[in-house]
Parts: sequence; structure tokens; C-alpha cells
Amino acid sequence: MDNKHDTPKHDVLILGGGPSRLSTALHLVQIAPHLAPRILILEKAHYPRLKLCAGGLVIDAEVILERLGLDVSEVPHVDVDTAHFDFAGKGLKIHVPKKHAIRVIRRDEFDAWLAQKTREAGVEIREGSIVKNIIPDKDGVTVETDHGNFHAQIVVGADGSNGITRRCVLPNAPVQTARVLEIITPVSQVDNPTYPTHHKSKDAYFDFFPVPDNIAGYTWDFPTQIQGQPMRCWGIYDTNVLADNNRPALKDPLAKEMARHGYNLNDYEIKGHPIRWYSPQNQVSVPRVLLVGDAAGADPIFGEGISIALGYGAIAAREIAESFQRGEFSFRGYKRRLARSGLGQTLYVRWVITNIIYPIKWEWFQILIWWIMQPVVLFVAWIFILNWSKRLK
Ligand SMILES: Cc1cc2nc3c(=O)[nH]c(=O)nc-3n(C[C@H](O)[C@H](O)[C@H](O)COP(=O)(O)OP(=O)(O)OC[C@H]3O[C@@H](n4cnc5c(N)ncnc54)[C@H](O)[C@@H]3O)c2cc1C
Repeated sequence: MDNKHDTPKHDVLILGGGPSRLSTALHLVQIAPHLAPRILILEKAHYPRLKLCAGGLVIDAEVILERLGLDVSEVPHVDVDTAHFDFAGKGLKIHVPKKHAIRVIRRDEFDAWLAQKTREAGVEIREGSIVKNIIPDKDGVTVETDHGNFHAQIVVGADGSNGITRRCVLPNAPVQTARVLEIITPVSQVDNPTYPTHHKSKDAYFDFFPVPDNIAGYTWDFPTQIQGQPMRCWGIYDTNVLADNNRPALKDPLAKEMARHGYNLNDYEIKGHPIRWYSPQNQVSVPRVLLVGDAAGADPIFGEGISIALGYGAIAAREIAESFQRGEFSFRGYKRRLARSGLGQTLYVRWVITNIIYPIKWEWFQILIWWIMQPVVLFVAWIFILNWSKRLK
């Protein structure tokens, strides 16, 4: 397969094997079933593969999966009863009667399940194939991998925040990335009412106390499970919008929050990964290549990217199906289609909010948002941050 003559040809090559590519493939099969045997997914890892992620699914992720006929309760999960959005341990609570506020999965299990569903839909996934280069031209796209070259009519870059697709086709485009750290611990201090700041084992906590110290983000503490064992997932997210200021080391506020609950950060393995986030300036396509998921840009406020990745897949699939009908692959309309959709609208509002709640970093402002303006925050969240998946067409 190494020389150009025996390069295999496909209509659609999807690079990367996370939720954005699976969503693109499954939506494409739904809209244009005849394309299924002409789609090939290349993934560098083997399922179940590790992906650093807290695994919190918001309601929009479940709505999109349900519309694809998928029941995510088949995947091992923990349901969060109440989500707390705090400043310094106090703030607003989100509780949905008779339902969970957030569902927490592990990404190795969730992504392997999605991969199986994609295969069942008739789409080929080739694991262990590392993409090295992407070269679009007027007749198609050549993709160089460690297993030879492939040629396709179009390519979908679904290879995440560090992906090669964006770097190859948009080498000079500006990139905004958040810094994120994550730690998994046992549940020992949780649900211990004798402990001064005890947490409830079925609740998730987001605390924005690091913002006045120029960490433009929050710490989190979720329930999770690993092979059926209840655990806690902790982490810290920093959009980097206050990067020009003096900041403590990213792990310091996380260590402080964990210490408040009786945990010593140094006792646990700490892992980090960037998240590339959405900005209206982000370019999301070039002729014959379009980007989805983190490669295009995740939510900037929270770094929430699973529902967003699933949403990108739905929009990209429509753009691709129509391009094949027209026989024209400029993808000139993709950014506009995205902007007009519920996904584009929520991403835009989230970007605006990011540029307000983090740069106005004073303590009084954070107290105003999380302690005093709770009804306003809930209203904005309900209308502009959640429930966008109903407007994906
Ligand atoms: C610490 C942390 C915690 C997070 N917590 C949450 C959370 O609780 N909830 C939430 O909604 N989001 C969370 N996110 C964000 C979420 O993980 C991402 O937004 C989401 O995974 C994006 O999906 P994707 O399909 O775009 O990319 P990814 O899931 O990153 O998938 C990209 C895929 O491409 C493959 N790939 C990469 N390069 C190549 C190559 N050269 N060749 C072939 N394959 C390649 C990778 O192996 C991978 O499988 C978190 C992120 C981090 C870092």
C-alpha cells in the first residue's frame, strides 16, 4: 500500500476514534446509508483505549445518542444526584426531579461501546493506524499513515485537541487551549458527616474559587466507578484566558480543594491533557477536509466536550451528505451551518460568557454570580447552555 498505485480509495475517511468521529459516522449512515461501506475510520489506539476525561455526560449527549437509537445506560455509569456550582464551597445546586443531573461514564468503556455500535452499523474501523500527514488536492485527499497511504474524496478530522488534521490543513490558524489536570481517588472522606466539609457521594462539585488567583476555571470533584468500584474523579480546568497574569502552579488550587476534604494530592497519580476550545474565529474546514469535536473546538467555560463532539458529528454528517449529492466538496457552508445550529449558538454564548466570568476575576464578582444571582444563572444555563441538542437541524 506504500506506493500511489495500490492506495485504497474511500469516499469518507474519518481520522480519530473518539465520540466526534463515531457520531459523524453514525449520523452519516442514518442520512445516507449507501455511504456506510465507503467510510473508513482510522484510529491510532486499540479499544478499549485510555482517554483522559472525567466522563461527565450532560443531558444533550443523552438526547443525541437516543436519537441515534443508542441507550447509554448499557455502559457502566454513575448517576449524579445534584450538581453544585460553587465559589469557595457555597453556591447554586442543580437537581432534576426523578432524573440524574449528570451521568458519569469512563471513556475507555464508553468509546469502546460507541465503536461497537459503529461497526454494527456497517462502518469499518481500523485500529492501530497512526495518521502522519494529510494532503488535500483538487481530486481528493491523500492520508499518509504508518500502515501506508489512503485516498478519499473527503476527510473528517476527528482526532482531538492535539490532532494532526488541523495541524496539516490549517498550520497557521490560532489555537486556544485550556490546561486540565485529573486525579482518581478512593471515596474515603465522602459521606462522612463528622468531617467538617463532607461531600455527598452521589453529588458533583464545581468550585470557581481559583479565579481570583488568575486560574480562569474551576476545580471539580465527581463520583465515578472503575470496574464497578466507586471512586472520586478530581480535576482542575484553566481556560488560560488569564495566562498573562501571575498564577500559582495549576496543581496548587486542586491540592487545596482536595486537602479541604482530607485528601493529599501527592498520594495520587496526576495526569494532564489540553482541551482546544471554541472561538468564533476558529476555522473548521478547508476544501475536502472538515473538522469535528475538539479539533474544531470544545466548550470554553467548562471544557465540556463529549456532548459537543456528538453534536459536531450530526452537523458534519449533514454537510457531507449534501456535498456528495452535489458532487462538490468545498465545505464553504459548514461554518455557517454550524453557527446557525443549536450547537453553534450554545458555543457562541459559552464563548461570550467565558470572556465575562473569567476576566472579571474579582472575588466579589464570583460571589455575585454563584451566591447571589442564582436564578439568573439558572435561567441562562437552561436556555443557552443546555437543551441545544433539540435544535441541531
Ligand atoms: C482531564 C479532562 C477531563 C474532561 N472531562 C470531561 C467531562 O467530564 N465531560 C465532557 O463532556 N468532556 C470532558 N472533557 C473533554 C472531552 O474529553 C473531549 O472534549 C472529547 O473527548 C472530544 O472528543 P473528540 O472525539 O473530539 O476527540 P478525542 O476523544 O480526543 O478522540 C480523538 C481520537 O483521535 C485519535 N487520534 C489522535 N491522533 C491520531 C492520529 N494521528 N492518527 C489516528 N488517530 C489519532 C485518538 O487516539 C483518539 O481516540 C475532558 C477532557 C480532559 C482532558
